[in-house]
Amino acid sequence: MEKKKFCSVSARICRVGQVWILNRNHFLSPMTLLCDSEFREMEQKVELLSYVMDTDRWRWNEDGNKDFSIQSVKRLLQKNTELQQVGFVLKWVNWVPSKCNIMVWRAEMGRLAVKTELLKRNINVGSLQCNMCDWGDDSVVHLFTACFIAQEVWSAIGKWCRLSPIIAFEVKDLLQLYKEAEGGKWGKIIVHGIIVIACWFIWRARNESVFQEKKTTGRIIIANIKRMSFFWCKHRSKFKDLSWDNWLISPLYMLY
Ligand SMILES: [Zn+2]
Repeated sequence: MEKKKFCSVSARICRVGQVWILNRNHFLSPMTLLCDSEFREMEQKVELLSYVMDTDRWRWNEDGNKDFSIQSVKRLLQKNTELQQVGFVLKWVNWVPSKCNIMVWRAEMGRLAVKTELLKRNINVGSLQCNMCDWGDDSVVHLFTACFIAQEVWSAIGKWCRLSPIIAFEVKDLLQLYKEAEGGKWGKIIVHGIIVIACWFIWRARNESVFQEKKTTGRIIIANIKRMSFFWCKHRSKFKDLSWDNWLISPLYMLY
């Protein structure tokens, strides 16, 4: 209804006595009854506006009328995160590089740029098919649990870490496998790190197959997991004297 679309609100309302009114001269006549009633409603709301001579300012409403504080922002973020996580908290592994921890953290929340997630955000990705197996859709759940390449990896990693056969329906299931690991506290830390590294190499293989059309096999991923987990464990944990031959037999050998 406004004739000039780039006008400011202050140019269309004026103060008459104690109330604000809309200057109707700038508007076209309402086209329909509904339009007319909405316009009248807007007029009534404008009349009710209160007016203060101060300049505008931002106000932090989260803690009532208290002043803004970082503490308050932190509380707000924690409140929202707790609602989303529904009780699941990712256990960070210090002997594994941050890039792997962060990737797994994002995977657990479904925040990886897989094709199904991109499509949800209206990004055209062509075929949704997983490039590694050409069978399922390229989703976080498929990639880490259902893809036969991932299943081959979990089968081998489960045996290597002496876990019972790994059956996972979502990433969260993989990130809780460490709880059944042998070898006490350090057994759990090592196994959890290996699971995180395994997810990292599955994700890398997926990216190579999507962006470089490089076909991979479960055996190559498993070899990478064993090699890099040995390297990181030797250089980033307290186990400086790790033996490669023993590591290949069991990553928990030093705990017995
Ligand atoms: Zn697949």
